[in-house]
Amino acid sequence: MVLDCAVIGGGPAGLNASLVLGRSKRKTVLFDDNKPRNAVVAEAHGFITRDGINPQELKRIGQEELKAYPNVSIVKQRVAAINKVDDQFQIEAEDGSVFFSKKVILATGFKEILPDIEGVERYYGTSLFSCPFCDGWELKDRPLAVISENPKAVHMAKVVYNWTEDLIVCTNGKKSLSEIEKTLLESKGIKTFEQEIQSLIGETGQLQKIEFKDGTAVLVEGGFITPEWVPATNFGASLGCKLNALGGIEVDSMGRTNIEGVFACGDALITGASQLIIAAAEGSKAAIGVNAAFIEENFMSPVSALSD
Ligand SMILES: Cc1cc2nc3c(=O)[nH]c(=O)nc-3n(C[C@H](O)[C@H](O)[C@H](O)COP(=O)(O)OP(=O)(O)OC[C@H]3O[C@@H](n4cnc5c(N)ncnc54)[C@H](O)[C@@H]3O)c2cc1C
Repeated sequence: MVLDCAVIGGGPAGLNASLVLGRSKRKTVLFDDNKPRNAVVAEAHGFITRDGINPQELKRIGQEELKAYPNVSIVKQRVAAINKVDDQFQIEAEDGSVFFSKKVILATGFKEILPDIEGVERYYGTSLFSCPFCDGWELKDRPLAVISENPKAVHMAKVVYNWTEDLIVCTNGKKSLSEIEKTLLESKGIKTFEQEIQSLIGETGQLQKIEFKDGTAVLVEGGFITPEWVPATNFGASLGCKLNALGGIEVDSMGRTNIEGVFACGDALITGASQLIIAAAEGSKAAIGVNAAFIEENFMSPVSALSD
């Protein structure tokens, strides 16, 4: 059987795409190996009706809702390869099974590369975060650190300052701040620490202290980091999709890429707007894009034939 659409990735983007495809009577398979980057958090915020939900619970509810649509199935496996063969896509799952589909939606998210600092994994997702809009409220008005080795440091400090003015910036030995930036930060009472970090100290996920290699230390109660973002898979590139500077897949307002039949949504676009509700909305848009393509092909085909 040839599927109408294969959705690769079952986070909020892929789940919502599958829901809209299911409701549009499309034969759909959603592939997911359940390794989202938000697996480190117990609570996700900012999704109306779901504020504070555990991300895995959100996924469970999403999968449960898809059961109402017998034309949608979920394959809990990693997709190893996608190849375009004529006007179809051949999707190879990790166990070797092969599926054919007329359209593909890439909803694979992105991966984060955390700074190479001793202890960072112990606190990431509990008291160290990367998105103030997601987790700023929980850390508001506390002594916080922005730990950033890259040029995003000042921008992150500017944003986090909205939630707390008791803020420091640590560059972990990188001379990434200009004199003007340091003066700007100082004018807001934000101290900068450019020495290398020895380790992050705390208990049960709660960051308490940053120790520097020069023997000094500073007390904090949490903070924000600026991880590097990279695509979670190379499917966008291998299918020939146009990518942005970060490797995110470029799409139009209906989730269409430059490659016929390939759509993309959610964090896989790597636009910087990284939120559950945005990913879900983009999933919906991509599914509408897929439907629009089918409607055009099916409904208009006699007219196209006449005009040929
Ligand atoms: C620490 C942290 C905290 C966050 N907190 C919040 C918050 O509070 N509120 C908020 O709105 N957002 C939050 N986010 C952001 C949010 O998690 C993402 O924006 C959102 O999950 C993106 O959804 P997505 O579906 O595009 O990608 P993801 O949720 O990353 O899902 C992608 C899915 O695709 C799967 N996949 C990838 N490759 C393959 C493959 N080859 N085959 C099969 N499956 C594959 C992955 O395993 C994963 O399950 C947070 C992120 C992080 C890292």
